[in-house]
Amino acid sequence: MRLLDGKTAVVTGGARGIGLAIARRLSAEGAAVALADLDAERAGAAAAELSGPSFGVSCDVTEPDPVESMIQRAQEELGPLDIMVNNAGFTRDATIRRMPLEDFDAVVAVHLRGTWICTKAASSAMRDRESAGAIVNISSISGKVGNAGQTNYSAAKAGIVGMTKAAAKELGHTGIRVNAIQPGLIRTEMTAQMPAPVLESRAAEIPLGRLGEADEVAKVALFLASDLASYVTGAVIEVAGGRHI
Ligand code: NDP
Repeated sequence: MRLLDGKTAVVTGGARGIGLAIARRLSAEGAAVALADLDAERAGAAAAELSGPSFGVSCDVTEPDPVESMIQRAQEELGPLDIMVNNAGFTRDATIRRMPLEDFDAVVAVHLRGTWICTKAASSAMRDRESAGAIVNISSISGKVGNAGQTNYSAAKAGIVGMTKAAAKELGHTGIRVNAIQPGLIRTEMTAQMPAPVLESRAAEIPLGRLGEADEVAKVALFLASDLASYVTGAVIEVAGGRHI
């Protein structure tokens, strides 16, 4: 018996990076997984490489209609929703002096509005059949300490922590658990954009002495999504190699 046999999961931003690593872990433990991402082709290709039932679908998490349709499709094709992983995101870094308002709004929209829309839709689907579901939100260590050049991203990722705790309190009586992960510097396309000397200097600050791998975040997401974490809700787990403890 695997940890997630018979379960259905949705992973947003699941076509690559941390989202894809999470989808692989959930699938390997028996879950049927829908990968929701902006790029339908890449999401489909990613889904095709998973061993179990899955599909990839284009879905912008900042709008309720595509999110609701995507969750409906996941339930029709894969089964009643048990696990929602809110991972989609991007950065638009600049100092507050140089940052255009649109970049503040866009980053807050994908992380905060998107996580809220997906949490609302997923928890509604889970409540309808009185299932003990699990919602895993991907915050960031940037939301704990605040990073210069990331006023938009740090604010949104800190907001995800507040949202996670509030939703955990609201949904606890239904059996739905809501938790968050704060990754540190993880090797993905997002961090590949950073200049090598900056990455090296940041790595030197990390007690474990290296960047993390996407699968190291995925293993913690699997824990939170599974019954191994049956009495864990409203928690925020840092996966940052000890950075900023
Ligand atoms: P990637 O850029 O590799 O992957 C993010 C995915 O999200 C992309 O496929 C992207 O699609 C998709 N996406 C962007 N906007 C939307 C949207 N509106 N709706 C649906 N999907 C969308 O990033 P990572 O894997 O590195 O990051 C994943 C999560 O982890 C993010 O929330 C990020 O903030 C967080 N995180 C990452 C860290 C790191 O060091 N990498 C550290 C801390 C947190 P497309 O490419 O087509 O735009």
